Amino acid sequence: MTNKYMYFVANWKMFGELNSLNSLNKVIKFSKNFKKKSIKIIYCPPATLINSMSKMFKNSKIEVGAQNAHESDNYGPFTGSINSKMLKDVGAKYIILGHSENRKSGETNRLINLKIKSALKINLKVIFCIGETLQEKREKKTIKVLNNQIKSGLKGITNKKDIIIAYEPVWSIGTGLTPKKNDLFKTIASLKKKNKKLKVLYGGSVNPRNISDLKSINNIDGFLIGGSSQETKKFIDIIKKTYN
Ligand code: PEP
Repeated sequence: MTNKYMYFVANWKMFGELNSLNSLNKVIKFSKNFKKKSIKIIYCPPATLINSMSKMFKNSKIEVGAQNAHESDNYGPFTGSINSKMLKDVGAKYIILGHSENRKSGETNRLINLKIKSALKINLKVIFCIGETLQEKREKKTIKVLNNQIKSGLKGITNKKDIIIAYEPVWSIGTGLTPKKNDLFKTIASLKKKNKKLKVLYGGSVNPRNISDLKSINNIDGFLIGGSSQETKKFIDIIKKTYN
């Protein structure tokens, strides 16, 4: 059983409608009965559900986050966009930025940097995703790529207390593949050595079957969970299994 402070972040991606919220009563009940104090549960639903979810979690310790935002810290003529300020207004406390699914559709390190600054300005906590592609892994460029993503993404940011890194190898997201334990330990150790005090979560195909292995990597500060978080039972199982 781990005694460390652990984060469990649910990334619902583009899944979920109002009636999906019904299943969350189970996680609210679970979180109230769960004796571990050193645990943070954060749900990041699509923006359409942030308001309703925040209301649902109001009397629990579960917090809500967003999955992306426009980089502008003010309102403006950007049709279809939502900024961090608006997300905070409806209850978000966290925001996932730099997710590889958004990098894939053109989000650059520079744009991510602007988004992070904008989110921090209005006091959202940032879950900053980094990760190498399969090609980069094969070329043994993982550490170099991650360091570059961090350097560019956090450029000009001196106060990093509200930033949490989520290391998500691109080849691991949604594929069922996870890094070898020793590789993951070493990658996280390297990130922590270079970025003192930053918490580092792991994300990529975390599920109730592989959590027992992953939790034994003792420098991980928690998990960013996509697919498995969309089923409340699986998400709860992951948390339970982290502690036994
Ligand atoms: C993610 O999208 O952040 C993620 C980790 O997805 P999955 O758990 O489905 O691999």
